[in-house]
Amino acid sequence: MDKLYFVVGSQDLYGDECLRQVAADAQVMTDFFNQKLGAKVKVELLPTVVNSETCIADLRKVSCDDECIGVMTWMHTFSPAKMWIKGLQELRKPLLHLHTQANEKLPYDSIDMDFMNLNQAAHGDREYGFILARMRIPHQVVAGFYQHEDVLAKISAFVDVARAINFSRHLKVASFGNNMREVAVTDGDRVESQICYGWECNYYPIGDLVKIMQGVSEAEVDAKMEEYTSKYTMKTTKVEAVREQAKYEVALDKFLAQNGIGAFADTFQDLYGLKQLPGIACQNLMGKGIGFGPEGDYKISAFSAVLMKMAEGREGATGFIEDYTYDLTSGQELELASHMLEVPVTFAATKPEIDVLPLGIGGKEDPARLIFDGVQGEGIQVTMVDMGDHFRIICADIELVKQPKPMPKLPVARIMYRHKPNFAIGTAAWCYAGGAHHSVVSTALTRADIALFAKLTGTELIVIGDETTEADLDKLTAPCCR
Ligand code: MN
Repeated sequence: MDKLYFVVGSQDLYGDECLRQVAADAQVMTDFFNQKLGAKVKVELLPTVVNSETCIADLRKVSCDDECIGVMTWMHTFSPAKMWIKGLQELRKPLLHLHTQANEKLPYDSIDMDFMNLNQAAHGDREYGFILARMRIPHQVVAGFYQHEDVLAKISAFVDVARAINFSRHLKVASFGNNMREVAVTDGDRVESQICYGWECNYYPIGDLVKIMQGVSEAEVDAKMEEYTSKYTMKTTKVEAVREQAKYEVALDKFLAQNGIGAFADTFQDLYGLKQLPGIACQNLMGKGIGFGPEGDYKISAFSAVLMKMAEGREGATGFIEDYTYDLTSGQELELASHMLEVPVTFAATKPEIDVLPLGIGGKEDPARLIFDGVQGEGIQVTMVDMGDHFRIICADIELVKQPKPMPKLPVARIMYRHKPNFAIGTAAWCYAGGAHHSVVSTALTRADIALFAKLTGTELIVIGDETTEADLDKLTAPCCR
């Protein structure tokens, strides 16, 4: 299980009795966190930091434990921050600075100097906050009594983001084929992606997959078909075409497992040895948290896997999508988002139907795909682009809506949404910011989650929402010369 270490700061100036109390209070808090957050993370207390050596030992443990997704620190007493410098220099995990106290209320009748020296986070956490700021260490501060619901919710959100960052740092991304010819926004610097986010992005010939495919047995295809028909409605009579996709998914399963890969990209321009563009195979895999990017888009493949990991355990849907076409009725503008095939099944509001229809691109046989209407609710749309010297995340608030009318002739799954604050400003801001046509839409994650991810990974973030104004658009205009 994922582990979150809890490190409490003090010093030896106040005597052993004080340090015993610090350790006892820290244990009570640890037990409380485990009781409240135990379903998603195990909180483990490390020895109280009383000097540079204990700090180095604690934060080395945090950094080297593969099960550890992050660390939460808190200064029960004053803890001179020079003691923290060398330890913090070794920290390689997401950091939460919990600004709290063991006590909620002040004991006005009995408070004395001993109490004040023991419970001085107001003092110690400022000293500690300074050294984090001075050392430019990305971190999240959560302030308030540790038992309060809002504080617990913020710690819980940090755990989700830290889990996603930890996942990201171990993520391997496979590209079958290269980036789609001539397309700019889906491309990017894979070396920089690994430096910033840990993604090991590597190329594999599609022939590697075809070879595995050729070894897939009829029984394995039968089992996959069983899975499809148990979850989805078989609308087509072209069962062989669906079995072809089932074979792709079985082969992909094996390929991903053999190579420890959590996200992959393909392209319709490189399907040598495949009869169809993978459709339902990708849709079903995305529903299981596997990242996918079409047209060789390795960034959205990896980023969607990371965001699905962040959303794990939450209500709502998270997945890859493409901006496609608009309803521009004045004042009621809506976007229809979809893809030519590969819309994650996660977005299904209706029971998906399996159908086999022409694709009109790529020159292959008609692919089997899942078709459904999309979920509704408040959500976000997030993307990542390569600006040449840094990555940029763009996060827009959206409202996913029910499609106003059925679209019986549209042969792909779809979602629809309304932009904020309105169509004119919301979409213009996205264009000015250089936002891609590939993105991740989520009704499970919030802007705050993305902001925390951006902060902890040191990524530029542009947000678009109800507070975005016409005047903000000018600020997003890029310098005209390079
Ligand atoms: Mn696309």
